Amino acid sequence: MTGVAVLGSTGSIGTAALRVLARHRDRFRVVALTAFGRQEQLAAQAAAFGPAFVALVGGSRGRESWREGKESLVEAATRPDVDIVLNGIVGAAGLEATLAALSAGKRVALANKETLVMAGDLVSAAARRGGGELVPVDSEHSAVLQCLGGRPGSAIERIILTASGGPFHAWDPERVHSATVEQALNHPTWKMGRKISVDSATLVNKALEVIEGHYLFGLGYDRIEAVVHPQSIIHSFVEFADGSVLAQIGFPTMELPILYALTHPERLADDGAVRFDPVSAGTLTFEPIRQEVFPAFALGVQAGRTGGTAPAAFNAANEVAVATFLRGQMPFGRIAEVIEVVLGRQAVGPAESVEAVLAADRWARERAEEIIRC
Ligand code: NAD
Ligand code: MG
Repeated sequence: MTGVAVLGSTGSIGTAALRVLARHRDRFRVVALTAFGRQEQLAAQAAAFGPAFVALVGGSRGRESWREGKESLVEAATRPDVDIVLNGIVGAAGLEATLAALSAGKRVALANKETLVMAGDLVSAAARRGGGELVPVDSEHSAVLQCLGGRPGSAIERIILTASGGPFHAWDPERVHSATVEQALNHPTWKMGRKISVDSATLVNKALEVIEGHYLFGLGYDRIEAVVHPQSIIHSFVEFADGSVLAQIGFPTMELPILYALTHPERLADDGAVRFDPVSAGTLTFEPIRQEVFPAFALGVQAGRTGGTAPAAFNAANEVAVATFLRGQMPFGRIAEVIEVVLGRQAVGPAESVEAVLAADRWARERAEEIIRC
């Protein structure tokens, strides 16, 4: 039996993970659950899976036997009965748990891409030191890993990440600037949490994924490209040295990449899997990313290329801007502007310690708040 801790169990990824785990109770045992708020939902999950450890982080006090506080994330991630930590927390809050789990030699099935973007070198170093293993849940990176089929990242000539383009890929830039919260959350192909839905509408999500790909597969930025593919059927392409290109294909579902992150490099028969049908998939199309509609994409890739604490500042400025937009206090088009001004003012330093990364994160959040206020 493999013990699994599901961090962020009440979210879009967390609930998809529990659906997968419920189908494979003979192979996996859910031993820890954590969530931020949504106490009733967490209680129902605890009743269904009977984990030894439940934590409610932030918000109201949970049940008698539950843990609380953000330290409980690290506790859940490092328990001796946990083999795999599925990190489905959104945003910077997931960092310590990933680092602690990798240092303790666990496999981390990582959905929480923000923390790899913030601290990619530190995360990789923690895995090397502790013997832990980082396996992507993000569908594009899962596609790359599946295409690699056991070959090392160094076998890759180039990866092409696909992006749905979100709800605005065919809109005029002026219309996109004043898009409403409802329009930004209306994703055409994926049903996801609010923050990543907005990131998909700005293509910040794809910039985060370019940086994620850089760290996961050890690829230089010249070897990572992105293309808009509105049908979300091809989850990414990998080109090898001889020019051969492999792609991983399927109807959009996070359940497959979640299951694969748990079983990699093996595959497990799954009765509940969504089966593919090329005829109903229809015509597949590809378009370049339009800079005038998605200015935040290039800002993020540039932050990745700059390296050091630049990606942490990019991520933090984006988190503040997205939260402000979601509260209805700022137009959609301001998200990229806020990020650009914050990055323009940053004195980038080395991301040599968690403290340095968290200091850059704090600095960028404060600047973003200031810029939004004036
Ligand atoms: P979500 O908002 O639906 O869920 C987030 C979860 O994290 C919830 O359980 C919430 O309780 C918990 N959480 C929030 N703030 C927290 C905090 N401060 N401390 C501890 N826990 C906290 O988000 P989601 O869509 O499930 O996305 C989760 C992560 O997975 C993100 O990093 C996202 O980019 C990534 N991801 C999501 C999808 C998807 O299909 N939803 C696909 C690929 C990657
Ligand atoms: Mg993705």
